[in-house]
Amino acid sequence: MKKLIAGNWKMNGSLAANATLLEALLEGLRGSTPGADVALCVPAPYLAQVQSLLQGSPIAWGAQDVSPHAQGAYTGEVSAAMLQDFACRYSLVGHSERRQQHGETDAVVAAKAQRALAVGITPIVCVGETLAERQAGLTEAVVKRQLAAVIHTVAHCTSEIVLAYEPVWAIGTGQTATPQQAQQVHAVLRAQLAAATKHPARVRILYGGSMNANNAASLLAQADVDGGLLGGASLKASDLLQIVALAG
Ligand code: PEP
Repeated sequence: MKKLIAGNWKMNGSLAANATLLEALLEGLRGSTPGADVALCVPAPYLAQVQSLLQGSPIAWGAQDVSPHAQGAYTGEVSAAMLQDFACRYSLVGHSERRQQHGETDAVVAAKAQRALAVGITPIVCVGETLAERQAGLTEAVVKRQLAAVIHTVAHCTSEIVLAYEPVWAIGTGQTATPQQAQQVHAVLRAQLAAATKHPARVRILYGGSMNANNAASLLAQADVDGGLLGGASLKASDLLQIVALAG
């Protein structure tokens, strides 16, 4: 299976800046089929723009969050069906910024993954430990608990998710996990998937956390690292294009 390089723009962008970035990405990919799958998870207000500029291109698009509810009195939320209206292929769920800043529990994250799957959107389920949890030796227990909630809820659809291991201490800090640290956790997650689904190899496990053009090659070379989830690097066309080339 191809590796997946997914960008998370977070709360960045403008109509003008997005157009410039997307044009540079499309120009960089013109004339060749990338050896890796590429996706951008953008702020919801820009989904229409991204759909219009990327349709027919090798770059897929998606959202950064999805409501756990189908519809109704949930002011400010965006439903899976709404994301489907804009042809989203992916949605992040359970990014650590949502878990930490919005109090998202494992159960809420699992419900979000289920809503996405129900309309054919692939949830990119983010798991990862804080620095305090790592220092307390709790890394494996934390990521396994986070993934278990999703497996329990989506059950036979487990092989249809994308998983992203994102150590919280590595996100936006410039402090990347070593390839060995990443591989160790990815192997634990792969084993957990193997116990839950007949098709564990179908689940791409991305690494995220200060991945950049300089460190991507060694991370992507690990046996169970099936791609990357990029924050900062997804806002710079040259960095993103370099990482896509390394992943191919
Ligand atoms: C992220 O936001 O998912 C992320 C990995 O950010 P960064 O690459 O900037 O650490």
